[in-house]
Amino acid sequence: LNRRLAEFGTTIFAEMSALAVATGSINLGQGFPDTDGPEEIREAAVRALRDGRGNQYPPGPGVPELRTAIAAHQLRRYGLSYDPDTEVLVTAGATEAIAAALLALLEPGDEVVALEPYYDSYAASIALAGGRRVPVTLRPHEGSFRLDLDELRAAVTDRTRLLLVNTPHNPTGTVLTRAELAAIAELAVERDLLVVTDEVYEHLVFDDAEHLPLAAFPGMRERTVTIGSAGKTFSFTGWKVGWVTAAPALVSAVRAAKQFLTYVSSGPFQYAVAEALALPESYYDDFRNSMRERRDILSAGLTAAGFEVFRPAGTYFVTTDIRPLGEKDGFAFCRALPERAGVVAIPNAVFYDDREAGAPFVRFAFCKRADVLREAAERLRAM
Ligand code: PMP
Ligand code: GLN
Repeated sequence: LNRRLAEFGTTIFAEMSALAVATGSINLGQGFPDTDGPEEIREAAVRALRDGRGNQYPPGPGVPELRTAIAAHQLRRYGLSYDPDTEVLVTAGATEAIAAALLALLEPGDEVVALEPYYDSYAASIALAGGRRVPVTLRPHEGSFRLDLDELRAAVTDRTRLLLVNTPHNPTGTVLTRAELAAIAELAVERDLLVVTDEVYEHLVFDDAEHLPLAAFPGMRERTVTIGSAGKTFSFTGWKVGWVTAAPALVSAVRAAKQFLTYVSSGPFQYAVAEALALPESYYDDFRNSMRERRDILSAGLTAAGFEVFRPAGTYFVTTDIRPLGEKDGFAFCRALPERAGVVAIPNAVFYDDREAGAPFVRFAFCKRADVLREAAERLRAM
């Protein structure tokens, strides 16, 4: 393994899912739903397979039906207008979109300012691209993890090429506010930075939180690469259909990298996701409401079991502090948890450069059936 990748090893998600299988534990580690997405969308995939749509290489940028549906979604939802032919690119999940964007946009040695804790593929993709990550740590403040705008400003140097943002944020569940996003946008414009924004949890925001796309802020449309995923929005993580929307020059750049990573992927599924994006608003409302209920079940259960719970405003993850349980090392806690309680969780420290800062936090996924969440909570309470 080369020096760029040596520090990363096996992803924590694979490690912890294997542990869940080996111990027969309830897996609240890796974020994948235990209920598949809509039946009619599965049927749409079957129809595409049978009708011979997408069984051979689809077009490099993605099938036109899907690119049109992505553009329509961005317009309907956010008032953002993208040309399906030049400003939309279909990728092999958001993971490839992130990798291709960083490979395309970074020169070796360029600095990337990323919110910490960060989704694990960010660090690896920055490294593959020869970039340097510069974390800005979200810190607990009155029940949620918040961004310190002064720290963010101080992290930008003459070597900074881009800001890598994620809202709603995995693993903390933070949804950046309008004021926070406006400050990020102002900074990007002032320092002439590109922004890659991972908005895969855009439809999972709860209570009075609102997802606002960074691309909609003044001066951002031309400098922002926005990433979405059908894995998250429609509960088909195995289909690996993601996308990028951005200005033509940025989409061309990302596509230049993407063509040598996978070239294309997920042919028949692209047609099905095009139909999914056109589902009525009630689909998105039901999806969000059902995840909110699950959030509440798991949060209550974790609180009853003695964890400090950071109530997530978005995503399907809840971050907890284990110190009230007399624990301080999330790694050790998560490695022991399957034996102790028959539950698998993720130590947030893996999402930090500053492992100390992340040590006491542990993430649980709540994209599971309510009875599964209740059983997990009961096991944790009895532990
Ligand atoms: N970004 C974030 C913040 C995620 O949580 C995930 C999935 N865990 C991804 C990207 C990857 O998405 P996909 O499965 O579409 O590659
Ligand atoms: N995004 C998922 C999570 O955060 C994991 C996806 C993966 O295993 N790469 O749990």
